Amino acid sequence: MKHGIFIFFCLMANCLFAQIEKAPEIKEGLGPFPQLILRGLTLINGTGAPPFGPVDIVIENNRIKSIVWVGVEGVPINPDKRPKLKEGGYELNCNGMYALPGFIDMHGHIGGKEQGTPAEYVFKLWLGHGITTIRDPACGNGLDWVLYEKKMSAENKITAPRIFAYTVFGQGAKNGVNTIPDAINWVQQNAKNGADGIKFFGAPPAIMKAALMENKRLGLRSACHHAQTYVAQWNVVNSAKAGLTSMEHWYGLPEALFDDKTIQHYPLNYNYTNEQNRFEEAGKLWKQAAAPGSKKWNEVLDELLALDFTLDPTFNIYDANRDLMRARCAEWHPIYTLPSLWKFYEPSRESHGSYWQHWGTEQELEWKNNYRLWMSFINDYKNRGGRVTTGSDNGYIYQTYGFGYIRELELLREAGFHPLEVFRSATMYGAQALGVDSVLGTVEPGKLADIVIIDANPLENIQYLYGTGAIFLTDDNKIIRKGGVRYTVKDGIVYDSKKLLEDVKKMVSDAKKNSNWQLKQPGE
Ligand SMILES: [Zn+2]
Repeated sequence: MKHGIFIFFCLMANCLFAQIEKAPEIKEGLGPFPQLILRGLTLINGTGAPPFGPVDIVIENNRIKSIVWVGVEGVPINPDKRPKLKEGGYELNCNGMYALPGFIDMHGHIGGKEQGTPAEYVFKLWLGHGITTIRDPACGNGLDWVLYEKKMSAENKITAPRIFAYTVFGQGAKNGVNTIPDAINWVQQNAKNGADGIKFFGAPPAIMKAALMENKRLGLRSACHHAQTYVAQWNVVNSAKAGLTSMEHWYGLPEALFDDKTIQHYPLNYNYTNEQNRFEEAGKLWKQAAAPGSKKWNEVLDELLALDFTLDPTFNIYDANRDLMRARCAEWHPIYTLPSLWKFYEPSRESHGSYWQHWGTEQELEWKNNYRLWMSFINDYKNRGGRVTTGSDNGYIYQTYGFGYIRELELLREAGFHPLEVFRSATMYGAQALGVDSVLGTVEPGKLADIVIIDANPLENIQYLYGTGAIFLTDDNKIIRKGGVRYTVKDGIVYDSKKLLEDVKKMVSDAKKNSNWQLKQPGE
């Protein structure tokens, strides 16, 4: 999702970036320590291995030094078996808790003026949900802005995940990118400017090909939202062959699967800038493609698998399309959604992703069926060894940062992934797609210390990871909230995830007080 229209207009108008407040320079979290021992955890290490524990995880500064098996389940731990705390070290009692690798959000926009979401708000929602790495697929606040935040995060001067900056193709080009030499120059300049990669929305075939090949030659990575405006000429298979790293969302994939047409069945009064048209018709797209298990379906799967291509479906950002009230009335909105962001979500002919001019039973039904087919493809791809990653695209369509990411994990589960497969996508596969799997993505000795700690088993219920926790009835008939990430460790620094979310709550309640604002449903 995201900016299709906004970005295109912005590029054409060469407008100034709608920047937002940078994150404040406050040292939060504890550490890093010369030695940090996280004690008594059950570990889900991100590789697909089953949980094991209890283990003590020993960290030195920002590196995982060792993972020590200190006993077997249900037997008291022999203290002699445990690693000893060195002088100046710090230990955290995590008895009975679960640890996973830090989550990677492969599609993390850092908000903007339109949403009125300061960086601190977005970053704390992410870290508060265990997200320790994000890929910004647009740099909507400008590359310099993102690179500054990236540097501050790398130096741990701000409370924020690690950032990978992918610039929108053509961003900043005064006269546009119209020729092959233009494309090659732009790609080379983008690398010089310090970007980690490129986010494409599509372009004429010769330009896409030249840009993708040059970017790959330079060792950078790429992502593409195959916008409808180019997809008849250049679909996902074309991109994968030319060296694209990951496809975002799903556009361009059903088109690659057409076997009885070459163009989507657009109604004759369709207009792409009318978002009701755009999103309503998109819901009828998968049923126009080759059927699951058909020859064409298998050919496209095989071709993408052979190219080691990454699928980043961002299921959650379209979740409202199949059940608008569910997304709109999520229990976290009154507490965690800023008034300005709520306003941005409301139906509007102008805001991107706010296309609910008339959305009801018929549209939702189409989208429910659309998801079934889309999910079958994603699950088949995973089952044949393909890499599927987790991206949220949050800040649009009633998906608030952090919460939408956890919803994405639930939707991979719905697509047919085992929870261990879900967490592998959220961690190891994300690191592979970013090209940083030698240092991130799993909890193993030698890796950087990015770890999520939670006081509940997230395999049993992914909803435990929501900042609001999950409803649970105790043996003595008390209703409690179970879960919510307890600690997020990034670079060996221990953040109290619940405290980060408390900060967000306060930002939201202050914003409401200052504007005398009350949450109302649209049209009330
Ligand atoms: Zn996006």
